Amino acid sequence: MTHQSAPIRIPSLLPTPDIFSCRRILVIQPHYDDADIAAGGTLAALVDAGAEIRYCTMMDDLVGVIDESLDDAAAAASLLRDQRAAAKIIGIQELTHLNYPDAGNWSRFDVRPDLFREIRDFRPDAIFAADPWLRVEAHRDHWEAGSIAAEAAILSGIPKLASSDAAIDALWRAAKPNDARAVAFFYTDEPTTFSPIDATWERKAAAVSEYHAQFTDDELPQLVKTLDAKAQLVARVGVEAGLLPAGTKRAEPLKVIDPRALHGAR
Ligand SMILES: [Zn+2]
Repeated sequence: MTHQSAPIRIPSLLPTPDIFSCRRILVIQPHYDDADIAAGGTLAALVDAGAEIRYCTMMDDLVGVIDESLDDAAAAASLLRDQRAAAKIIGIQELTHLNYPDAGNWSRFDVRPDLFREIRDFRPDAIFAADPWLRVEAHRDHWEAGSIAAEAAILSGIPKLASSDAAIDALWRAAKPNDARAVAFFYTDEPTTFSPIDATWERKAAAVSEYHAQFTDDELPQLVKTLDAKAQLVARVGVEAGLLPAGTKRAEPLKVIDPRALHGAR
């Protein structure tokens, strides 16, 4: 006899890690502005709590630059200016760039050794990435960047898989193992964690407003307004679920997972 019902979700054995106990955070983002847009308030709060944060941007973002009169070098310089200004506001100490073609033809097997290099070099205790399991996401840069970051988080500890930098691999082999304790997915619709951002919202809004190369002067205030409405909606959902203190006005949703739960049903 079979027993049928609507699907029932079996919880993971592994508890949700506390990202605020993490001190070295590697943010692997598809484009220059994604982490600030999706998680800038949380990342600013982590900086305030003493975390060191590196943003690793996978794409070159050249498709998104609105001024078509700029050549690639000038467009790249304007993107970098915006990102540095935003990083100063949030408190991000390091920016690295992999420069894969924006919305272009790149292979995860080229990107993956670069992410091994980033992880082995920076030795994060938490990795942030876009949620590759977001139910609706049409942009391949987003879902595949998240998928490669998640895979790199679980495979970067395997010495037989080389990174793109032999010198970093040699240093990493000689050092003590240091596995990440948490992977936090932003742009998620299945949050485990509601991160209150009332104290850092103004910085997030100011940082996002620096992305002039990719948004017009009319679009930027509209983007901030939309992010504000979303942050308030997320806070209401979190308060109603009992996961945020009553009175929280703005929050960001994160799917935080123990890396051991990223492979098989742990
Ligand atoms: Zn993006």
